[in-house]
Amino acid sequence: MSISVGIDLGTTFSAVAYIDPKSKSPQIIPNREGKKITPSVIQFLDGEMIFGSEAEDAYNAGEPNCVATFKREMGNDEPYCYIDGVPYTSEKLSSLLLRYLKENAEEVLGESIKDAVITVPAYFYSREREATYRAAEAAGLKVKKIIDEPNAAAMAYGLTNWRENANILVYDLGGGTFDVTLVHMGKNGELSTITTRGNHQLGGRDWDNRIEDLLFDRFESETDLDLRSDPDLSAIIRGMCEDVKKNLSVMTTVKATASFPNFGRASVLISRQEFEESTSDLLERTGSLCQAVLDEAGITIKNVTDILLVGGSTRMPQVSNYIQKLFGKKPITHVNPDEAVALGAAIQSSKKNTEYASLSVQVVEGKKVTDRSKSGLNNFVAVKPAHKLDSINSLSLRETTAHALGVVAVNDEENCYYNEVIIPANHPRPVRAAKRFRYYTSSTSNNTLDVYMVQGDNPNPTDCIIPYKYVVSGIQHVNKGEKIGTVIRVQYSYDDNGIIHVQARQGDSNRDLPIRKDDAPRDISKFGHPINSADNKRDSSMGLMMNHGGSGGVIHKYKAVTFSNVEWEKYDNIPVHPSGAEFNEPTIHVVANEKQIEFHGYNVSQMDEGVTYTIDSNDDFEIECNIDTSTIQPHPGGFLKILLGIISANLNQNGGNILLDGEGVAMVGSKFNLKMSLSDGGHYEVYVDGKLVGSKVHETSGGVDVTFGFEHDSHCCSILSHAYISNIDMMQCADSGEDESAETPTWDD
Ligand code: AMP
Repeated sequence: MSISVGIDLGTTFSAVAYIDPKSKSPQIIPNREGKKITPSVIQFLDGEMIFGSEAEDAYNAGEPNCVATFKREMGNDEPYCYIDGVPYTSEKLSSLLLRYLKENAEEVLGESIKDAVITVPAYFYSREREATYRAAEAAGLKVKKIIDEPNAAAMAYGLTNWRENANILVYDLGGGTFDVTLVHMGKNGELSTITTRGNHQLGGRDWDNRIEDLLFDRFESETDLDLRSDPDLSAIIRGMCEDVKKNLSVMTTVKATASFPNFGRASVLISRQEFEESTSDLLERTGSLCQAVLDEAGITIKNVTDILLVGGSTRMPQVSNYIQKLFGKKPITHVNPDEAVALGAAIQSSKKNTEYASLSVQVVEGKKVTDRSKSGLNNFVAVKPAHKLDSINSLSLRETTAHALGVVAVNDEENCYYNEVIIPANHPRPVRAAKRFRYYTSSTSNNTLDVYMVQGDNPNPTDCIIPYKYVVSGIQHVNKGEKIGTVIRVQYSYDDNGIIHVQARQGDSNRDLPIRKDDAPRDISKFGHPINSADNKRDSSMGLMMNHGGSGGVIHKYKAVTFSNVEWEKYDNIPVHPSGAEFNEPTIHVVANEKQIEFHGYNVSQMDEGVTYTIDSNDDFEIECNIDTSTIQPHPGGFLKILLGIISANLNQNGGNILLDGEGVAMVGSKFNLKMSLSDGGHYEVYVDGKLVGSKVHETSGGVDVTFGFEHDSHCCSILSHAYISNIDMMQCADSGEDESAETPTWDD
């Protein structure tokens, strides 16, 4: 027969549990030594691996090649350690430990393990969860589900202490991580996690470090030895810390004795009071996270029915005292913190996984949040008396997303990046949601779109975590007049394990585009800077309005070039003209197919030749101008000329003709909107006031001229007086507006 198990893969200890077929209740599977928990420590010795207590003893004695607390670096691809020159990541070490736990449990029970539920800190990001998943699979385990440690503990507790309508705060302080989770006991044994916060760099180890400081100070003044700078002597102190800490949980003063080579024995005293004083800031940090959870859930301290302490470090009396002070009630301590998580995981291992839920969001003060109206959390109805549930079947768990999930997008004003949340935090999972974005394609370059995933709900992406960049490829080139660009639907799935998947489709296609997952760049500071900051410095009178016309939201590959408020005076204000007239010399930026081109619109020395920019005929290019020629005072016989390849507009104060390949296609007055575009290597289109007035395919090899300026018999000069640069290659939401219920339909894998 084969069984399912629940595994608490702890930073300091691990435990395995299963559902005992006789009692139908969760039971810990002891290790070969008969102990219910196994230290998460490995020693590499003479080509062999030693796990558990023996390895821990060696570790504490400062023996070489011992590794502990590697879970803290889960998801980090850098080696956690080198053993005999061989690199080991946290994932690899975890897989070795999991294999040991698996084989141990199989041997003790005489059963093979079919699949396993593995627990992780609630605040683990997708990256750490994926690493845990891979570690378990590499250990020969089939992962049934990854669940959060506090939820597992709450399940184990709820099985025997079900209190309908209760809000339980699970305070989980382990060896390396701290999580605080609010769970709600609903009807019919449904346990819902409401919200969670945590810090996976805060745990018992930090308390050990404070003891270490105290011990170093004491022993140094006792012995006059420089213990800190001697690695062997430091190892002696380090090896004592955890024991001293644990003893302080039961004694008010602990005598620590050590023997130093060439010195002999020395003893020092550490009191619980001084230990508590030196660690009070650590407790405060846990308290702030508790408060953050309540704020996020919209409840107050008095709405918390009980506080459940889990994790080995909650054995320190300071934790219960602090909680009692903070909440005005004694926390529940009768759950065995070492076992509860594995027991809960075992209960979950007997259950089927849930189906994807559809997104349920509300927009509150412009921020997308989970719609919790159905959670029962805020009903504040009387809590029913505690009772034991009939069986594990009467209990079910509804987990939530710990982090909001978004993409780096460009705001409507197109001047800064922001985090466009797709799935809010604390949403029941598994959940799937899609969003539409526009992307500007190019006919000449590979159309790849970078989707920067954001974990967190701070609007500023740099205040969140960007775990990955997803590079979407295979996008078809689309470039048609007003509808320039294409829509890309991006779908996020937050699966049962809290692992995130990304898919993308173009337009209405039902085929997923190829996606490559890349590490996010180390430096994401650019997402905190204004877009085009260089351009913003330019004289604002030279700036121009962006063309928002009809594009909705966009993912910009490049921006159409837009001119507005063209005033002939600009020409006449150029400062140094041979005739003595004053001129401006505007600096022009144009973007076509991602290429940024900077050139000067008027160059006095080239006055007789004019200045014309030449683009490649394969460039997709668009110019849009809001023209008002009434201010033009051209030289006699001269005219304003706007030209893109075979399209040209020749204008005086009263307007003029628009020509396409030499043929007039429109007569215009002095005020009108003109748009000219070139796409697909020779497809010209010209629009007047939004109406297509002419189009022609005219393939040209080589260059195509773009001119904006004044032409006269004696001289020709081009003043591309208002242009805008953009190298925005980010996403801008196409599903904008208040109506968040108009969600983009999702699709199955
Ligand atoms: P966990 O990750 O939940 O297994 O918790 C392990 C952490 O609990 C380690 O930092 C231990 O030092 C700490 N711990 C275990 N027992 C005690 C105790 N009696 N007093 C203080 N800390 C303890």
